[in-house]
Amino acid sequence: MIAAGIDIGNSTTEVMIAKQENGKTSFLGYASAPTTGLKGTTDNVAGVLEALALAQKEAGEITIDQIFINETAPVVSRLSSDIISQTIVVGSAMIGHNPDTPGGYGIGTGRTVRLGDPYPSKEEAYIVVVDRQVPFEEAARQIQTAMDGGTDIAGAIVCRDDGVLIANRLSRNIPIVDEVEQIEKVPIGELAAVEVAGNAMAVQILSNPYGIAGIFGLTPEQTKAITPIARTLIGARSGVVIYSSSGEVKLGKVDAGSVTVIGSAGEISVPVADGADAVNEAVNRQQTVFDIRGQQGTNAGAMFDEVKRMAAQRTGQETEAVKISDIAAVDTFAPIKITGGIAGEYAMENVVLISSMVKTSYFPMRALAEKMQEKTGIPVQIAGKEASSALLGALTTPGVSVPVAILDLGGGSTDAACLDDSGLRYVHTAGAGDMVTTMIDLELALEDRDLAELIKRYPLAKAESLHILRFEDQTVKFLEQPMPPEFFARTLIVTEEKLIPIRKKGLTMEKISLVRREAKRKVFAANALRALQKVAPEGNVRRIDFVIMVGGSALDFEVPDLINETLAKYNIVAGRGNILGKYAARAAVAAGLILAAGGDMD
Ligand code: ADP
Ligand code: MG
Repeated sequence: MIAAGIDIGNSTTEVMIAKQENGKTSFLGYASAPTTGLKGTTDNVAGVLEALALAQKEAGEITIDQIFINETAPVVSRLSSDIISQTIVVGSAMIGHNPDTPGGYGIGTGRTVRLGDPYPSKEEAYIVVVDRQVPFEEAARQIQTAMDGGTDIAGAIVCRDDGVLIANRLSRNIPIVDEVEQIEKVPIGELAAVEVAGNAMAVQILSNPYGIAGIFGLTPEQTKAITPIARTLIGARSGVVIYSSSGEVKLGKVDAGSVTVIGSAGEISVPVADGADAVNEAVNRQQTVFDIRGQQGTNAGAMFDEVKRMAAQRTGQETEAVKISDIAAVDTFAPIKITGGIAGEYAMENVVLISSMVKTSYFPMRALAEKMQEKTGIPVQIAGKEASSALLGALTTPGVSVPVAILDLGGGSTDAACLDDSGLRYVHTAGAGDMVTTMIDLELALEDRDLAELIKRYPLAKAESLHILRFEDQTVKFLEQPMPPEFFARTLIVTEEKLIPIRKKGLTMEKISLVRREAKRKVFAANALRALQKVAPEGNVRRIDFVIMVGGSALDFEVPDLINETLAKYNIVAGRGNILGKYAARAAVAAGLILAAGGDMD
C-alpha cells in the first residue's frame, strides 16, 4: 500500500509519502506548502492539494491508496497586544526628522512664518517655512534679504531636499531641517524650535524633555506630557518641535484593564499594567486553566472578546462555547502614533503582547476529511493525535530512547509531548514563532511583517566594500560578484539566494540583532521550559533524558541553541529532530502518521 501522511499545521501543511509492504515502511517523498485557512477547517484543502502534488512529484510514478491526516488539536492561537501606557499629546506638533542632509547646525527658536509673508516684528525671532514650489536659490535670496534687513531668522523648515544648498548660500549659519514632505501641515505663527546636530551626532536639546521645557517654558505637568516627543527624537540628526498655543498639552491614559485566569485554583486576576511576568505568573499558579477573561470595558476585555469571537466564527460555534486554555505574555515596545504629531510621528510605548490559545469543543475535521476525499479521490482517514504522531516521527531520530520528550516549536504554539513507562502526556502552550516575528516588527517599528520574518530567519551583515560582507559575528565573506553600490554601508539580510537591504533609517545592525535575539529568548526560553514541566514525569524536567525539537521554529538558526542553553542546567540532551535520519524536523508529524498506521520503517 502507498500511504500519504498529511500534517496540517497553523502555518504549513506537510506531506510524506511512503510504501508499506510486509510490515516495512519505505519513505518515497516529502513536501510542504503554506496552510490555507484556519487549521482544521475545509479551507485547508487547497494547501493540502498543493503539498500533495509536490510530494507526489518527488515520489515518482505512484498511486496513493490511503491518506492519513492528524486529528488536529482543537486550538487556535492568536496574538494581540495591549498598550499599557498611552500618552496623547494634544496641541503640540512635532516633526521628528532624520534626513541625511539637513543644513547648518545648532538650535534655533522662533515663530513660524511662511517664506514671502511679512515678518510682523523686529523684536522677535522667526523660523521660515519654505514650500515645495520655491527653488532653493530663491529661498536663500529671500532669507538673506530678511537677515540683511535686520530680521532675526533663527532657522528654517524646508519641504524639498534643499537644506544644504540653502545653508551654503547664507552669510550666517542657521539650522535647516529639510525633506518635510507635508510642509502644509506645519502650523504658522506658532513658537517652534529647530535643531540640527553635527556630523555623526544626534540632537541634544530636543531629545531632552527638560530641553524642550526650557525653550517653551513648560510646567512640570506639561513636561511630563511632551516626554514621548523627546524620546522619539533620540538619535535623530535633526528635529523640530512646534508648540501650538491653541489647545493644551494633555496626558491621556487608556485603561489596560486586568486579566482573570479561571482554573483549578479559583479565579486569579492581575492588572495587565503589572507587566508580562505578573500575567504569566497568574497562569502558572493554575494547575488547569478553564478559561481566561479580560475586564469588561477595558483593552483587556476587548482583546479576549475579539479572540473568542474570531475562533467562534471560524469554527461555527457559539462564542460562549469558546474557552481560552492558555496565554503567554511578553513585555515589548510598540510604536504608538502621537496625537498632535504632524507627520505621522510615533513614540515607543510599553506594551504587553499576549498570545492566546483557544480551545473549542469541536472542529469540523470530519467535513475536512470528506472534502479532501472528494477532491483527491483517495480515501482519507483521521488517524492519531498530533502530539503522538509527532512523537512517533521524532523517535526515528537516530540516538534517542525513552524517557524522551519532543518540543514542537510551531508558529502559534509550543507543544510538548513526553513518553515514558507510564505512557504519553502532551500539552499545547501559547506563544511561538509568530510571537517572535510580531515582537521584531513592533520593536523595530517596521510595520512590515514580511521584513520582520526575514530578519528573524537570517543573519545580518554589512557591506564593507562592494566585495566584502562583514557578518554580525564579525566573520567576513568575500564575494566574487560586486554588490550593487546602493548596498554599501547598509545593513543587509543574508538569505540563501540574495542580499536584502534594510532601508529603514536609524536602525543599526547591532540594534536589529539585539532585538532579534532578545525576542527569541523572551518567547522560547521561557515557553520551552514551561511546556516541558507540564509533561515531564512528576512534573520534574530532570527526569527527561532526551528532548527532540521539531516544528518550523526548530529550523531557526538561533532558537535551538538558546533552548539548549536553558535545558543544559537540567542535564538534558536536546537537539533538532533528524526525522528518519534525513528529513528536517518539520516532517515529524507526517512521518509519524504513516508509522502509526503500521509497519516498522525500512
Ligand atoms: P505549524 O505546525 O503551526 O504550522 P510550523 O511548525 O510550520 O507551525 O512553524 C511555523 C513557524 O516556524 C513560523 O513562526 C515560522 O516563522 C517559523 N519558521 C519556519 N522556517 C523557519 C526558519 N528557517 N527559521 C526560523 N523560523 C522558521
Ligand atoms: Mg506543527
